[in-house]
Amino acid sequence: MADAIVVLNAGSSSIKFSLFLARGAELALDVRGQIEGLYTAPRFVAKGRDGAQRSEKSWPPGTKLGHDAALRHLLDFLQTELADDRLVGVGHRVVHGALDFREPVRMDAAAIAQLEKLVPLAPLHQPHNLAPIRALLAAAPELPQVACFDTSFHRTNPEIAQRFALPAELHEAGVRRYGFHGLSYEYIASVLPQYDAEAASGRTVALHLGNGASMCALAGGRSVASTMGFTAVDGLPMGTRTGALDPGVILYLMDERGMDARAVERLIYNESGLLGVSGISSDMRTLLGSDDPRAQLAIDLYCYRIRRELGSLAAALGGLDAIVFTAGIGENSPAIRARVCRDAAWLGVELDAAANAQGGPRISAAGSRVAVWSIPTNEELMIARHTRRVIGKAGARG
Ligand code: ADP
Repeated sequence: MADAIVVLNAGSSSIKFSLFLARGAELALDVRGQIEGLYTAPRFVAKGRDGAQRSEKSWPPGTKLGHDAALRHLLDFLQTELADDRLVGVGHRVVHGALDFREPVRMDAAAIAQLEKLVPLAPLHQPHNLAPIRALLAAAPELPQVACFDTSFHRTNPEIAQRFALPAELHEAGVRRYGFHGLSYEYIASVLPQYDAEAASGRTVALHLGNGASMCALAGGRSVASTMGFTAVDGLPMGTRTGALDPGVILYLMDERGMDARAVERLIYNESGLLGVSGISSDMRTLLGSDDPRAQLAIDLYCYRIRRELGSLAAALGGLDAIVFTAGIGENSPAIRARVCRDAAWLGVELDAAANAQGGPRISAAGSRVAVWSIPTNEELMIARHTRRVIGKAGARG
């Protein structure tokens, strides 16, 4: 019989889950999966740590399963899966913790109410993140739940890095740069010493390149700057998000195209980025496999924006000792890593082409002044570790 921790990551159309079992000080992944297409064509898949399928279910296309029913299905599955093991806590990924939640926190009705006040800061994510916490609190009030925030890791940013050049009153009211993907960067910072002690104590830029994409400047393992700001739409172009955009463009669209806030929201979150520029796909694999010049343009723009942000973050750090690639594109695309590194030659980056093709983890040439790594992220394990610690299993390591 082992202590079990479930990690939930609830989004607008899917709920992802992972089940970890405590084995002494370690947390071992036992099963993971998701229910996706909650309002279109729901599909549940669960896989063991060896990748073998453990359970699967599809609902007919057009079924609006919804979050509550999906959560129930998931909990039923986990109940049978747990058998003799004991569920000791549930950890949740929550996108926004603003200034009040600088670290993971045990959830109760008061904490949920406080987090609900942050919904306007992340309207597309926060309500979905909170829904399962509320549902579980009602169904199993004794079950410890811990919220872990994508913003917390960046609270070490100096004030100046969090500031917009807006009137002070707006800054005081919370209109500032928060930064996101913090659980991914925190995980990378936690394992970097095992790969590269010098980089871990020095100046590193980590690139989280997934469907969402951002970059983070780490000084001695602490976040000092990042490309995402008030919301997760700033910075790099992403699968469907614009990244940095002159705010004047939005005024123009409202004045001249008659777009309201919701139409602008759709444009900048769902219709732009790799998808908008290429007109083909938000998926990097598809674009890399296409010979359509629009796909090429989208990739060119993506890499160009990374090149510029890398210079900016290196400037914020006052130099650069290492680069770490992570997430879907960062971990799996030698072609994008090669382009980013070529563009960063001026910073002292020299790639080892063979190591890059093999996936690393070290992909820089022996003589490269800047070390380059490709390291898989593990936000779920980070959440499980936090959850275990917060619910009182001090001293545990995953
Ligand atoms: P999410 O942010 O949803 O967790 P991921 O981290 O899984 O997303 O990243 C998804 C992105 O990674 C997609 O653009 C996908 O095309 C890209 N990707 C995954 N594998 C590869 C690969 N082998 N080559 C290029 N891109 C890849």
